[in-house]
Order: sequence, then C-alpha cells, then structure tokens
Amino acid sequence: MKKAFIVFILLLAFLLCSCDLLIPEISIPSFSIPETSVDASIDESVDDESVVSGDDGSKAEESVGSSTDESRSEESVGGSNDESKDEESVEPDFAGKLGSATDITDGTIIVSIFADDKTTDWNGDDGFKREMLRALGIGAKWITDSAKDFDSDAKFYYADGLQSDLVYSVKFDEDMVRYDGSMYSTQRQYVLDEIDNEGLLKKYGAKNIIYAFFFDTALDNEVNPWTIAYSKDNACDIELIDVFCRFDDLVTPPATLAHEILHCFGAHDLYYASDSIPQAFVDHCVQSGSNDIMYTVNMGDEITSVLTELAAYYVGLVDECELVNEWKLAKSEHIG
Ligand SMILES: [Zn+2]
Repeated sequence: MKKAFIVFILLLAFLLCSCDLLIPEISIPSFSIPETSVDASIDESVDDESVVSGDDGSKAEESVGSSTDESRSEESVGGSNDESKDEESVEPDFAGKLGSATDITDGTIIVSIFADDKTTDWNGDDGFKREMLRALGIGAKWITDSAKDFDSDAKFYYADGLQSDLVYSVKFDEDMVRYDGSMYSTQRQYVLDEIDNEGLLKKYGAKNIIYAFFFDTALDNEVNPWTIAYSKDNACDIELIDVFCRFDDLVTPPATLAHEILHCFGAHDLYYASDSIPQAFVDHCVQSGSNDIMYTVNMGDEITSVLTELAAYYVGLVDECELVNEWKLAKSEHIG
C-alpha cells in the first residue's frame, strides 16, 4: 500500500512537471522607459517694477523632455570613454536624486553655451556674448555673497570671457525659443555628447554642473528665460537654463540669471500658484510686497531682490523655514 502510494506521488509529480512544460512561453515585450517628465519652472518674473503675478502656473506642470533611453545616463559623460583609466576621476552625480545640481555648497560650474537655432543666430556678436557672461557672473556672485548670510559657502565657476573652457557654441536645427520644453532631450543629448562634464568637474573641484544656453533673441521676443530643473515629481539628470537674452523689450538682467540658477537647486517660483506654492502664499507675497528673488527681480547690475530664508530653505542652505508650515508650502527637496 505504501509502495503504491509512493508510485502515485511520483506519477503525480511527473504529470505536474509535464504540465509545466506545456505552459506556453510567455513573451515579455521589450518595454520602453516612459518619457521623463521634467519640471519646467518657467520664469516670467522679469519686470522693471519687479512684480509679476497672475500666472495660473499651468505652464509649470507641463511635461517636457523625452528621455526614452535611460541608458544615456550611464554613458560615459563627456570625452572620457575609459572610466577605468582614472579611478580618482570625479563621477558626475547624474544618477542622483537631485539632478546635476545638488548641494549648492559643493561648488558649481556654470557652462555657458551660445546657441543658434532655427530662428536665432549670434552672427558673431561677441560684444553681446560678453555682456551676457558678465550678467551671469554678477548673478552667480550675488548668490555666493547672499549665501554668506546663512554661513554658507556657495562657490561658482563661470567664464569671465569668451576664451574659456566653460564656453561652448552650438547650432540647433529646430526652433528652441519656446515654452513647451520638448527640446529638452535635444539639449540634454548635446550636453552629454559634446561637453567634457567629468573633466570639468575634476578640474574645478566642483560637484555640481549646470548649463546656461544663451539665445540671441530680439527685443520683440515674448518667450522669457526659464529653467528645466529636477523636482520631486520629475527626474531630471541635467539641469539647464534657457536664457532668451532679449524679451519683452528687455535685456535679461543679472537678477533673472540668479533667479534661474536658484531654480536649479530647488527654489520655486513664488509669483504664481503651483503644486508647491498655494495661491494664498502668492497673494501674501503680493500684499506684503515681497522682495524674494523667487517672486521678483530687478533690472540693472545691482541686484536688489533678496535671497530670503525661504529661498535658502529650498536650495538647501537652511533646514527649516517657518513659512513652510505656516502657509503649507512644499517641503524642500533637500529635506528627507
Ligand atoms: Zn522662475
């Protein structure tokens, strides 16, 4: 009886194995990594009187970028294709959670890229290029000086002239002067293919790197400078600023460039409501005449806006800001 039972079990096991073999092979389709949705923090804050509001914020929620091949982020960045040749080389933290600009106190390279596109062309206007580099330098230095108020050292490395390894030129075939941000993948790929990111980080001893694309737009251009940066909902490994150098009859001032740089480190616009900033706080900024640089910027070389405690909180210079709880603002990407 016992022997028969064992035989029965063995027979049953055989049948089960056979059945398993009969299960048709499941074809697992190769899947595409979904498009990366990138926060498009669009700047519309430049105004002579420095008060801009009323934007419904919808633009800030646009999904931009089309990084369909995540393997790009694992590519050797820049010209170095042999990662093993220098074990001490600085690895860009592009796989990190905060993009290419993480801790503002770790040193930041700003690469300036003078870009032609379908509708704009620098035409060798070196004088205006130098003017924009000068504005960028003023904006970056202002952040360094402002960070000292929070006992922090925020150092920036940027070109002080056109003959610099931090200056590039490129021509894009498509129209890049627009708000929708769908050109992000083109710009990202250019950065990965053409800029020696790793070499620059090593040379300057910095850990952050951001990219300012300058377009020689005319005064009647209506597309304002804006930044594509990491946010809590959107992975973004390359953080870049699109500087449309002239817009709304203005030339982009240093304050706007400082504002855009701060976006790269997590600062939110305060002049329109968004998932991060409720309308009530926007109204508060209007009523109180806020001078926060994420709410208002000024023309001229001297930046009169302020890097407030709230902006400092969002870029990771301080750990707390009472306004966040008081107004139910989003937590800083640097917290938790
Ligand atoms: Zn902005």
